[in-house]
Amino acid sequence: MTLASEILKSMQTVLPQGGGFLPLHEPVFPGNELAYTKECIDTTFVSSVGKFVDQFENMLADYTGAKRAIAVTNGTAALHMALMLAGVKNGDEVIIPGLTFVATANAVAYIGAIPHIADSEETTLGLDAAKLDAHLSEVAEVRNGECFNKQTGRKIAALVPMHVFGIPSDIEGLLTLCEKFSIPMVEDAAEAIGSFYKGKHCGLFGKVASLSFNGNKTITTGGGGAILTDDDELADLCKHLTTTAKAPHKWEYFHDMIGYNYRMPNINAALGCAQMEKLDDIIVSKRKLAEAYAAAFANIKGVRFLTEPDGCKSNYWFCTIILEKGMEAERDSILEATNGAAYMTRPLWTAMHKLPMFENCPRTDMSVAESLEKRVINIPSGAGILGV
Ligand SMILES: *Cc1c(COP(=O)(O)O)cnc(C)c1O
Repeated sequence: MTLASEILKSMQTVLPQGGGFLPLHEPVFPGNELAYTKECIDTTFVSSVGKFVDQFENMLADYTGAKRAIAVTNGTAALHMALMLAGVKNGDEVIIPGLTFVATANAVAYIGAIPHIADSEETTLGLDAAKLDAHLSEVAEVRNGECFNKQTGRKIAALVPMHVFGIPSDIEGLLTLCEKFSIPMVEDAAEAIGSFYKGKHCGLFGKVASLSFNGNKTITTGGGGAILTDDDELADLCKHLTTTAKAPHKWEYFHDMIGYNYRMPNINAALGCAQMEKLDDIIVSKRKLAEAYAAAFANIKGVRFLTEPDGCKSNYWFCTIILEKGMEAERDSILEATNGAAYMTRPLWTAMHKLPMFENCPRTDMSVAESLEKRVINIPSGAGILGV
């Protein structure tokens, strides 16, 4: 039997068959989604006024343990804000993984900053702290408590771990690095709501972090995102900046900064509140699916199912299989066989340093990312598959 047909057969033991095309990640609406959004329509409060935004922000803070959460229009806007709040400025460099969704790099570019692209590790698919340490020891120097790239002269203003597919990155290794080189950490936790590193929710390790509630994420608000921080001053500034920086007044329009229209509409937050009520159930279902996949793939040679590191809890946003080195040639036949059997499967993103707008950015050796690019496959992962 070929590897592709072995993998397909194992997937068939886990997944429903004959139900039509099974997407990579479908949203589920098992609770009060309809009731809360209907309430917005019935009361006309669908947009910038209404109770659901505050309620959603409080639910996010309660669940994650962050002191404050600020809801915005999408995860990209959330990361843009998070980077600004961490002090990233035009002309700075920001360390990001090469293996990420393009929004991570775009948010850096919106500020006029330059992505400094770093390699990933095979175990978590996140930033490789040891490799980055060796790289920074060569190219970076710390002056007056700030880190500079000796080769470009630019300040390295932030380091952005991204918790790939909900698997927590090597936070301890990366925090040690941030301390050693005086670089603030800003987590892109877009994929990681419900993921915990040693008991603490992802997104709570740096100064500020971002989440996403896009339609394909673990929970959705249609489109949406949030900023997490423990710093009240940053949180207040964030709320101000994301709501056009309007000074509070009964009738006057006075804006004291260049603000952004990044506020999450009430109707999206209504959906978010209903989803938060079901988040625990959604994650139980997704983790059950991951467990079933792990068992189904356990005895197939040449492939491993990506599991959470010891001490960490993953939301298993996207379930992932990784081909062993040397098996790269099998990838396309696996994609062919599974998609042909109506199971949506997808390869990894193209790494950031290969995209035309980021190809000249400073970077580490990218050999692991380039190898993983050819070996990673995402498989159907929605909470609807085993049900909520
Ligand atoms: C989804 C995602 C984003 C952006 O979220 P949107 O809500 O789609 O703007 C950012 N970074 C990563 C890693 C993501 O997966």
